[in-house]
Amino acid sequence: MGIKVTKGERKYLTYLYEIEAYGGKRIGTTKIAKALNISPPTAVEALQKLHNKGLVDFIKRKGVRLTDEGVRIVRRILRKHRILEILFFNSTRLPLEEICQCIEKIDVEIDDKLVDKIYVNLGMPKFCPHGKEIPQ
Ligand SMILES: [Zn+2]
Repeated sequence: MGIKVTKGERKYLTYLYEIEAYGGKRIGTTKIAKALNISPPTAVEALQKLHNKGLVDFIKRKGVRLTDEGVRIVRRILRKHRILEILFFNSTRLPLEEICQCIEKIDVEIDDKLVDKIYVNLGMPKFCPHGKEIPQ
């Protein structure tokens, strides 16, 4: 419920989460643009939109960080991503990289409750096939 995140926005949010740009840590927009292979003006525009949605805190020349709400949303996406990874991996045995890319296309959209059911049916695992923790 609540705030909708697009697949494009997902990239920024998960990147900021991975490099732990929240709480006291900010990162410059040039660095983000470089890491995501996006032009700096495009990155600034996207980050401004995320700021307006309340998911990042973006101050020009000071950089950007996730807000508490932003962190909450990323963790929810990663939770769904990792649960689906287990499901897809168990049933296809395809390379994890391939599975990961497929799931990136659906994890922002798919219903939380559906994935929660899958999670319970999988025996409430703690880690994804990469060994990354599944957020609670
Ligand atoms: Zn994984």
